[in-house]
Amino acid sequence: MNHILKHPFKDWGFDKDTRPLIIAGPCSAESEEQVMNTARQLKEQGITVFRSGIWKPRTRPNSFEGVGSVGLDWLQLVKKELGMQVATEVANVKHVYEALRKGVDIIWIGARTSANPFAMQEIADALRGVEIPVFIKNPVNPDTDLWIGAIERIQGAGIKHVGAIHRGFSSFNKTRFRNIPMWQIPIELRQRMPEIPMICDPSHIGGRRDLIQEISQKAYDLNFDGLIIETHCNPDKALSDAKQQVTPEKLNEILSKLVIRHRDIKDVDIQDTSLNELRQQIDNFDKELLDILEERMRISEQIGLYKKENNITILQPDRWTAILDKAQELGETRNLSTDFIVALFKAIHQESINKQTQIMNQ
Ligand code: PEP
Ligand code: MN
Repeated sequence: MNHILKHPFKDWGFDKDTRPLIIAGPCSAESEEQVMNTARQLKEQGITVFRSGIWKPRTRPNSFEGVGSVGLDWLQLVKKELGMQVATEVANVKHVYEALRKGVDIIWIGARTSANPFAMQEIADALRGVEIPVFIKNPVNPDTDLWIGAIERIQGAGIKHVGAIHRGFSSFNKTRFRNIPMWQIPIELRQRMPEIPMICDPSHIGGRRDLIQEISQKAYDLNFDGLIIETHCNPDKALSDAKQQVTPEKLNEILSKLVIRHRDIKDVDIQDTSLNELRQQIDNFDKELLDILEERMRISEQIGLYKKENNITILQPDRWTAILDKAQELGETRNLSTDFIVALFKAIHQESINKQTQIMNQ
């Protein structure tokens, strides 16, 4: 464990003063026995924060929709008998009141709810004046502003301890993930709200237990502050999300294999200057890239002038296709991925079009 790292949950009232924070427990509470059995094993593995869904938002009706309020009594038992802190999902005002009444320590707001500003505002209003940590999952669609809006509504209700959970984004395209991680979205959230601790939910991103290790490591390498991992005493028999749940023992194995790196280069006592030298080189190349782009846009403007004088449209599809094909071909020989080359050249092309449009309109 790396003790140099700052602990982002310092004032949150959590038992453990370590980073990363680990929250574990079943997707859903199913029975008192399943809850207690899972929690007891997790406690043996050193886990102090227990999660469990009580009300389950399911994509289609007639799936298991959670046990409802009775599950809160089981969470109370986890608190009382095992001294763990307990977390559950709330999706409406009734859930908030019941969870608070039954002494739930931490609440989270699910991906379907955070996508809905009306629901978020109602939940925020119900939380006014309450002191409880609230985690907000990203909305199902990859919209950083919508996620930030949900966080702001909860902050606006005076909640001090607000965190974010990255659980991936649903997509029509089938990928190897259940919910595509699109890491650039949580990275953007971190840039725009650096004060918000962020944990990762590799269970719902992967949808498969064999992906949890790799997604968790990626999250750590991107500076996440913790993980929430679905854990069940008998995963294959789980009533929801069976494929992605792991046993407490497996969880322990996953956690012990994770490498926690230094969060900040300043934390490492750099003995030699090799990193600084490499960074200097990067800075030089970045400047060269910008100089070249400036030159390229100047030529593009000359072409714009030519098009205007000769009454030719700005967009020449055949020419654009040829440029993109050539770039991909050259990119391949330089070990640059097609995705990268396409994104880069689309951005350059768009900027060219913008410049030529300005000239046309002059
Ligand atoms: C869950 O955590 O069990 C859950 C329903 O997650 P999400 O809101 O991310 O789908
Ligand atoms: Mn689940």
